[in-house]
Amino acid sequence: KAKEDGRNTHRFFETDMGIAVNDRRELISDLRNAVANGEMELYFQPQYSLDNYAISGFEALVRWNHPTRGLVSPGDFIPLAEDTGLITQLGQWVLTEACRIAAGWPRHLRMAVNLSPRQLRGHAFGPVLIEALAKSGLRADRLELEVTESVLLTDSDEVLDALHQAKSLGVKVSMDDFGTGYSSLSYLRRFPFDKIKIDQSFVRSMAYSDDSISIVKAVIELAKNLDMTTTAEGVETRQLLDMLKDIGCNEAQGYFLGRPMPVAQAEELIFACEQSLSTVAQ
Ligand code: C2E
Ligand code: MG
Ligand code: MG
Ligand code: MG
Repeated sequence: KAKEDGRNTHRFFETDMGIAVNDRRELISDLRNAVANGEMELYFQPQYSLDNYAISGFEALVRWNHPTRGLVSPGDFIPLAEDTGLITQLGQWVLTEACRIAAGWPRHLRMAVNLSPRQLRGHAFGPVLIEALAKSGLRADRLELEVTESVLLTDSDEVLDALHQAKSLGVKVSMDDFGTGYSSLSYLRRFPFDKIKIDQSFVRSMAYSDDSISIVKAVIELAKNLDMTTTAEGVETRQLLDMLKDIGCNEAQGYFLGRPMPVAQAEELIFACEQSLSTVAQ
């Protein structure tokens, strides 16, 4: 039920009511050692090109295998990690691990990594990025950094500098959850994103609202004019996939196409796709 009411309500239940104050304190102290204890794991969700329905890349989504609570979702610990500053260490681990894994995958596949605002503040991010690329050998243009507009909301030159530095290395930058904030449009002017990820809430409501279809169409048109590509998030049905292709969206991601999965499963999927491609080619 909470899910139907939207993401904010969902978070409200899980974070503010589900996790009480004591829990929060306990989680924070557990979080301090989680990376060192090897409790963090990356899951990977495929992104498909709507030109040919081939996989174009994966988004890395962090999971916490808590020793007693089981799998904790990022919605429940990323905010804690941000509040406590632990995000710096966690974010560095995510970036390094995602680059390492992507470097072993076929060269046409990109890897998208989510960044929190705090990771981009200060001047530590540039060196971390350069090191992650150098250590893994991943070609810079195979890496995409996903930021939400909250990243630009901080209005700091440090953040813009960090993003510009990433772009100058050849790394791609995407605006995540487009349309959910207060002034997504003004952010498009302030930074040259390579890609817009259309938020799930718009995508989902296309199924029953003509107005939502118009909005998504307009975003796709806008992106084209700004030389940016579009990815639709939260594609849960065939019907939505077909609609998005019809209106010219470039890529799609969602449960209909594939859920986030552990690395071994992602590699099976990649292998199966390569096999079927080589069968077609013969
Ligand atoms: P996001 O970057 O917008 O990621 C998309 C979220 O939507 C993921 O949730 C994904 O599992 C979920 N999703 C994908 N397809 C569908 C669908 O068809 N239907 C529905 N209902 N959901 C779908 P997840 O993995 O729980 O991550 C939630 C958020 O946590 C992410 O939103 C991102 O903002 C943040 N996050 C995840 N990993 C990281 C990380 O490594 N670092 C940082 N800073 N944030 C992260
Ligand atoms: Mg994302
Ligand atoms: Mg998103
Ligand atoms: Mg999000």
